Amino acid sequence: MTRRIDYRRRALDNTRLSGRLSLSELPRTREVVVADSGAPVDVSLLLEEDVQRRVVLTGQVQTRLMLPCQRCLEPTEEALDVEVAGIVVASDEAAAAVPREWEPILTEGDMLDVHALIDDELLLALPMIVQCDRPECRAAYDSEQKTPEHSPARDKPNPFAALASLKHDDDEPR
Ligand SMILES: [Zn+2]
Repeated sequence: MTRRIDYRRRALDNTRLSGRLSLSELPRTREVVVADSGAPVDVSLLLEEDVQRRVVLTGQVQTRLMLPCQRCLEPTEEALDVEVAGIVVASDEAAAAVPREWEPILTEGDMLDVHALIDDELLLALPMIVQCDRPECRAAYDSEQKTPEHSPARDKPNPFAALASLKHDDDEPR
């Protein structure tokens, strides 16, 4: 994928930006992952000009990232499917004028840095809660939540005590 594009000119041509990126091309996303999932970052975006001559960018970014579990810190794979619906703007004033249903995509000058854009989109879409589903992680978390009042061993009847009383009965003369 071309990294930097003249977004105004490309919008006039209704340019589709499709391709695959690797994490090595997305330095800020790479910083939050704890391992490489090996999954590519699939990009499918459309750049077009709307009737108000705004540059509209829509489409999807999909990948899987290895993020740290918030309980045990082990890497856990999270699928991200990011819906992009933005308007490309070159100033803060223009960004402020972008309607609420659109995301302002701020650029400097005439060029849009596609890698930086995708880096941003992924970071914004990171899940708030990351928890793995390994049983040992869930078990550790559950035991932290409970304050044990009785040890399970003490609550259960001692099987050897029951056996001893049976044995004692057998020993009784008939
Ligand atoms: Zn965990």
